[in-house]
Amino acid sequence: MAKAKAPRRTLESYTVKSINKTIKPGDCVLMRPSDPSKSSYVAKIEGIESDARGVNVKVRVRWYYRPEESIGGRRQFHGSKEVFLSDHYDLQSADTIEGKCMVHSFKSYTKLDAVGNDDFFCRFEYNSSTGAFNPDRVAVYCKCEMPYNPDDLMVQCEGCSDWFHPTCINMTVEEAKRLDHFFCENCSTEGQKKLQNSHTTARHSDTKVFPFTEVIFK
Ligand SMILES: [Zn+2]
Ligand SMILES: [Zn+2]
Repeated sequence: MAKAKAPRRTLESYTVKSINKTIKPGDCVLMRPSDPSKSSYVAKIEGIESDARGVNVKVRVRWYYRPEESIGGRRQFHGSKEVFLSDHYDLQSADTIEGKCMVHSFKSYTKLDAVGNDDFFCRFEYNSSTGAFNPDRVAVYCKCEMPYNPDDLMVQCEGCSDWFHPTCINMTVEEAKRLDHFFCENCSTEGQKKLQNSHTTARHSDTKVFPFTEVIFK
């Protein structure tokens, strides 16, 4: 005869004693990987449950994948703190939670004054069985036509408003930081005539798009 499944209790929140932090659904957390040489897993808490006695606490999580864990692997334009919201759910022991973290939108991440250890950003959802990304198109910049990697400094052309990597325009990062004005090759003759304010901060616009999946899986 089948054993009756022990009733589970849903918890509103739970304090992880080892880190003395209270977690609740919606929080993002770092979880200890089974292989200690790997980086901590990043997950979003979907629910918390315990057994009838209130012990054996488990969290229902939705995993964030790091670029190197995705089918396409890590690409040059992936930020060091980039994660993808996957469609992969799990039930994990709450004891494997190592800390809380923040997964920012791409926009708010680029506006952070300082990026801490616990700051991540997410601009794509990821289908863990097909390797597909949503959105499957993303803006690209510079002569190299790459999506924006927020770890890299870019300079904006005052003529066409495109953004450029210093190395792609034969400049060092130091030189780029010292620039008062910048015009790309295409705009340089026109541009010198009408000098305006320069921008050396990393920002992005939504001018050009390309099929992201095509680039990843070609
Ligand atoms: Zn470039
Ligand atoms: Zn230009």
